[in-house]
Amino acid sequence: MKRIYNFSAGPSILPLPVLEKAQKELVNYADSGMSVMELSHRSELFTEIIMEAEQLLRELMDIPGDYKVLFVQGGASQQFAMVPMNLLGKSGKADYVNTGSWSKKAIKEAKKYGDIRVVASSEDANFTNIPVVDSGMTDPEADYVHITTNNTIEGTAFTEVPDTGTIPLVADMSSNILSEEIDVSKYGLIYAGAQKNIGPAGLTVVVIREDLIGKASENCPAMLDYKTHSDSGSLYNTPPTFGIYMAKLVFEWIKELGGLKEMERINREKAQLLYDFIDESELFTSPVDKDSRSIMNIPFVSPSAELDADFIKKAKAEGLETLKGHRSVGGMRASLYNAMPIEGVRSLVTFMKEFENNHE
Ligand code: PMP
Repeated sequence: MKRIYNFSAGPSILPLPVLEKAQKELVNYADSGMSVMELSHRSELFTEIIMEAEQLLRELMDIPGDYKVLFVQGGASQQFAMVPMNLLGKSGKADYVNTGSWSKKAIKEAKKYGDIRVVASSEDANFTNIPVVDSGMTDPEADYVHITTNNTIEGTAFTEVPDTGTIPLVADMSSNILSEEIDVSKYGLIYAGAQKNIGPAGLTVVVIREDLIGKASENCPAMLDYKTHSDSGSLYNTPPTFGIYMAKLVFEWIKELGGLKEMERINREKAQLLYDFIDESELFTSPVDKDSRSIMNIPFVSPSAELDADFIKKAKAEGLETLKGHRSVGGMRASLYNAMPIEGVRSLVTFMKEFENNHE
């Protein structure tokens, strides 16, 4: 069996033991004579799966009791609309931090629903850093402050949680959820598309403080109201059952590895390997400010687009795939999500060294 090292930003690499377990259980789950995909979402077996998935996520992220975990659909992009539709109840105002393409999309969508202000932005630096955000910058009347904790395309990440005082902090954690320990109580709402560190595409995870539920406008569609999903235990309609099952397997895998503390240690080691090489390299450079670097998505460039293309082509021949940077920024990008083994990063660095030597 040939498995490549898949450096894709998402959908991305999944842990091999998880895929193998799913394969083993695929046609006959827990002696039911059925696949998980064929189980009723109201069956006892599926109820166990969704409850265990929630419990494991609570354990891994140490989610306080006054937060709900919701399993929804529509991707993180749907959260760009759901967040303002549900949270802009009091003042109709919200503050956003613009740190890249995904923040921009969140801002654009939110503007349809309220008075949205960009309080900090790194756009003038081509999103190569994370701007300073302090409590004095945010509107004391704002219903929430929105950040993108990890910028998948640009390769930047917040290293500190901005202090927003009593204003709920909303975070798009699509590309760094479960990659490190975080203090959930510092956030009002966290959302993430599953297709990076959680499981297959089609599932979106929302962690929301209870007092922020039930504030949607009257004409909010049921499916877009957090209360609908909270009241029904994410079973208002048919949820993405197989995605939730896969997420449960991924959560078990992380727990077995030692939880988020261990995950973070491994992720930092992996990222350090690649950054150390890039920083010493005479061919490759990192476009990102050192103190804003993501440990999940690592962009790098060679001196020319032609050389970039040659690198990507030759890397693929070595089983190092999907290293092309996002079409909006070019160059290369290695996504080192939880499931990327350190051996994959070592192989990448070895190949980059070889490519550099052959180039001279
Ligand atoms: N936010 C971030 C930070 C992302 O990386 C992505 C997807 N790559 C999205 C939002 C959009 O997610 P989805 O495709 O699940 O809507």
